[in-house]
Amino acid sequence: MANPEVRELTALDSYPATEPLYRRYVFALEQAGFAGDIDDSYAGRLIAATDNSVYQQLPQVVIYPRNRSDLQLALQLGQETDYQSLSFSPRGGGTGTNGQSLSEGIIVDLSRYFTGIQDSSAEQGWVRCQTGVVKDALNDAVREHGWFFSPDLSTSNRATIGGMINTDASGQGSLVYGKTSDHLLELEAVLINGEVIKTQPLTISEAEEIAAGDSLEAGLYRQALASCVGMRDAIEAKFPPLNRFLTGYDLKHCYDPEQQTIDLSRLLAGSEGTLAFITEAKLNLTPIPRCKVLVNISYRDFDAALRHAPVLVKAQATSVETIDSTVLDLARNDIIWHQVAEFVAEGETGETMAGINMVEYTAVDAAELEAKLTALLTTLDNELSGGPATHGVVGYKVCRDSASIQTVYAMRKKSVGLLGAVKGERKPIAFAEDTAVPPDSLADFILEFRQLLDAHNLHYGMFGHVDAGVLHVRPALDMKQPEDEVLLRKISDQVAALTAKYGGLMWGEHGKGYRSEYAPQFFGDALYPEIQKIKAAFDPDNRLNPGKLATPYGHPTATLVSVDARKRGFFDRQIPLNVREEYEAAMNCNGNGLCFNYAPESPMCPSFKATGDRRMSPKGRATLIREWLRLNSEQGLDVSQKPASRWELFKEKKPRFSRDFNHQVKASMDACLACKACASQCPVKVDVPSFRSKFLAWYYQLYRRPQRDYLVASIERTAPLMAKLPRLFNSLTHNSLSQWLMTKTLGYVDTPKLSVPSLKQRWRTHKHWAQGNSEKLLGLTSEARQKIVVIVQDPFTSFYQAEVVEALAEVIDKLGYQPYLLDFIGNGKAQHVKGFLAQFKRTATRVTHELNKLAQADFQLVGVDASTVLCLRDEYHDYADVPINFEVELPQEWLAKVMPKAESEAHGESAELFLHCTEQTAVPQSAKLWQQVLQGVGIKAQAVATGCCGMAGTYGHEAEQQASSRKLFELSWQQPLTASQQPLLTGFSCRCQAGRFSNQVGSDTKKLQQVRHPLQLLAERLS
Ligand SMILES: Cc1cc2nc3c(=O)[nH]c(=O)nc-3n(C[C@H](O)[C@H](O)[C@H](O)COP(=O)(O)OP(=O)(O)OC[C@H]3O[C@@H](n4cnc5c(N)ncnc54)[C@H](O)[C@@H]3O)c2cc1C
Ligand code: SF4
Ligand code: SF4
Repeated sequence: MANPEVRELTALDSYPATEPLYRRYVFALEQAGFAGDIDDSYAGRLIAATDNSVYQQLPQVVIYPRNRSDLQLALQLGQETDYQSLSFSPRGGGTGTNGQSLSEGIIVDLSRYFTGIQDSSAEQGWVRCQTGVVKDALNDAVREHGWFFSPDLSTSNRATIGGMINTDASGQGSLVYGKTSDHLLELEAVLINGEVIKTQPLTISEAEEIAAGDSLEAGLYRQALASCVGMRDAIEAKFPPLNRFLTGYDLKHCYDPEQQTIDLSRLLAGSEGTLAFITEAKLNLTPIPRCKVLVNISYRDFDAALRHAPVLVKAQATSVETIDSTVLDLARNDIIWHQVAEFVAEGETGETMAGINMVEYTAVDAAELEAKLTALLTTLDNELSGGPATHGVVGYKVCRDSASIQTVYAMRKKSVGLLGAVKGERKPIAFAEDTAVPPDSLADFILEFRQLLDAHNLHYGMFGHVDAGVLHVRPALDMKQPEDEVLLRKISDQVAALTAKYGGLMWGEHGKGYRSEYAPQFFGDALYPEIQKIKAAFDPDNRLNPGKLATPYGHPTATLVSVDARKRGFFDRQIPLNVREEYEAAMNCNGNGLCFNYAPESPMCPSFKATGDRRMSPKGRATLIREWLRLNSEQGLDVSQKPASRWELFKEKKPRFSRDFNHQVKASMDACLACKACASQCPVKVDVPSFRSKFLAWYYQLYRRPQRDYLVASIERTAPLMAKLPRLFNSLTHNSLSQWLMTKTLGYVDTPKLSVPSLKQRWRTHKHWAQGNSEKLLGLTSEARQKIVVIVQDPFTSFYQAEVVEALAEVIDKLGYQPYLLDFIGNGKAQHVKGFLAQFKRTATRVTHELNKLAQADFQLVGVDASTVLCLRDEYHDYADVPINFEVELPQEWLAKVMPKAESEAHGESAELFLHCTEQTAVPQSAKLWQQVLQGVGIKAQAVATGCCGMAGTYGHEAEQQASSRKLFELSWQQPLTASQQPLLTGFSCRCQAGRFSNQVGSDTKKLQQVRHPLQLLAERLS
């Protein structure tokens, strides 16, 4: 508990160290020439200690093999007598919902380097890849040949092929597309002794031939033949013909009695890393359906949606997905609703929509598709017009183009994240979230499931694959409360029994993980020993992901993991309530991993994309901060308070203890670009910059700040002074000596030049443009105020790209208003980013005071730079001492209001819009607003999907971030920017970044140097 006596941060090194045996192993591994990465730092271990489940298990070390030889080396070393007690658990994207990849031993993460796609056949429709490849990345690679890897899952932008194989993943459309195991043509796997095997269907005699040998592989075939062929009748009796019958080791399909083949791939699929490391897979691909349509049917309640699903499946739907009212209501309040709303019917019959089924039809030819669709729509129209067979349908919308279909599915895929955003301490959690029952019984099953949850007074949201009888239910519990932990166990037992009653199972989609304790009861006395014998054949000493799925047959001490295992709540509850409240964003992260989104054009999260290191992601940062809070609470320090000030001279110059956890957290925060994509893209709005700045404020209470931080924080004082003599200061700061000094002493490169002529000089050339402070403005008559538009300056555009502010004023002028340049009053964004929170508070209070006065006098306020304007809307609410009663609009917001809308679409001139990532994510309607505005002057603007450009304020100028900054630019900006005929960039940072890389992209240099703000084009085109 926090002790009020402790006011100062101290070194944090009281965390559990890696055990000596593991340290010796790591040392030996390095000596043996392991080429991959080894991470035994506390931070590195912590980020592998959680997945999307409620569990938390700290591993001893995380290793990232670079290739198969590395992996073999690690396992062969593990065979040495000294190391035979060590365990190895594979890990991919870490998105498991039941702790599948958590371990107290060695985590072997294949997601960093096993990312190669080796081979594919466009004619035959297969691909061979390494298993660390993310599912969406694989599909991106094969799409151009007309194929896709069809088993789908909501985490497709971050889950790996290895993880999919080992959980036998599936999802939307599984009735048609099957599970991952249905698409395995061949696997390459490394066994516990380092031996490599290849698996594919073999004839019984081929299998028997191998089984006659004395290798580890021979034992596998002996056991597979004995269990899968020998026990066929018991297996047939136990395994019901359910689409989602996930067992772990798939005894039923390992043996194909018709073809008389044995395929070990079927045992490996769904084995949750307990049998072998799968390093390579040859996968069967599916032709991309040429015709697709999605009908979104709205219902009066969720029960109606569930009961209608079997009818829809019978109407030949490819898939039927459902969402209940809880999730829909959350989506309505999320950024995603801006895109989705137009595709969802809100109660056309006057009733509210409280459930939805998304019905997909696919076909190879359009006529076939239209026939199916017409039949469905006729039925729905009848229902809506009061026909006899009513199913509670209140409306429907049809999506025909792939963009809108993807948008609707994106909402469905975001469901888990959305649920995580509910208010209150009890949050929806995964532990009984993937039940599967025969689809015809689903509605009745859910009725009972709801009664069960209602009896405990729990809130929950539901969504899932109704066609396959799989429903995702996440009851809201507070794992910080020991009583709720007890409740979790109770409900788990009840749900396991309820699914059994309906002839289904509790782990219909995500696998068992810590629910493995239910396996013996589920398989019964006849089959569970067979499962154990399979485990024993692969891993007799229980060293591969021990405790999951099964213990090796005959092993004297091995036990299964349990639902009662240590949970994250155990650690969270050690953090005092006031501290948890102050760092709410970090506490709320539920680990769903959306921030690991691999897509280059997604704004989430540039620092993870640039480094591939999960410590450098929102989830990583939230995890590290939570532990930092806990360790400080142990020390008795209350970090919810303001740090006590300390003279710079009395601060530590250099880190005294290399083990100090403060530095590990700091390294992660340093790599953050403060782009704020997480604050809006993360479904539970884990706003990293909000707690990053608090952490920095504390960190620099103990350690000295780099000089450049002071330079950045004082920019709002120095830039206006320097801008008085811009030529002089540019020549002083931009000669080769001072640039060299700047890099050497401050660690800054490519800093921008002050504008020449300055904004002030430009302003003077326009006789009727006014400038002054708020007093002067308030002194104007109310008539004079009417037409005034006040430009609220920011320190970047005004002093470094004055031509853009001038363009805004010209636009205002040409639209018949009077531009008025408010004297520079500051903003403080840089102070917040760098953690000068006391100063930021003062700035925020002062600026709010000024702007409140102007707002009260009804002035229209417009600012140019999105990141600073958005700081006024966001961080100011947390720091200003006075209420925020003003609104500064972005140019596009103001322009869309005052400019007449074009009557028809523009056809002549075109332009490409590249939006600043903060603006894209925080004001999602920005692209549409700009398009509307530009259309008003006959320009058709196309919004280009990009992530962060890699500049983000000062990040791109920091010498140590050059490689990452450049990588980010290359990832999603360079190509579309050079291809663009007329690029319009809204971000100051983005224009700087494009400008400085202009001489490195060959023949298109000129284009990049000429990038403009859309305001500049608008000023030109307005008459
Ligand atoms: C929000 C959310 C939605 C989800 N939706 C779905 C869904 O629609 N459908 C679905 O099926 N699942 C879903 N899941 C569960 C999860 O995403 C899947 O189980 C996924 O396949 C896990 O992949 P991963 O790469 O993250 O694997 P991890 O979580 O890292 O590992 C999963 C298991 O596979 C093992 N493993 C990983 N790689 C290897 C390898 N190369 N060799 C051997 N073993 C390995 C691990 O040891 C572990 O047991 C969802 C999860 C979340 C958080
Ligand atoms: S930060 Fe957000 S997106 Fe990332 S894991 Fe946490 S909750 Fe999910
Ligand atoms: S602010 Fe940007 S870089 Fe930092 S964690 Fe959030 S998304 Fe990542």
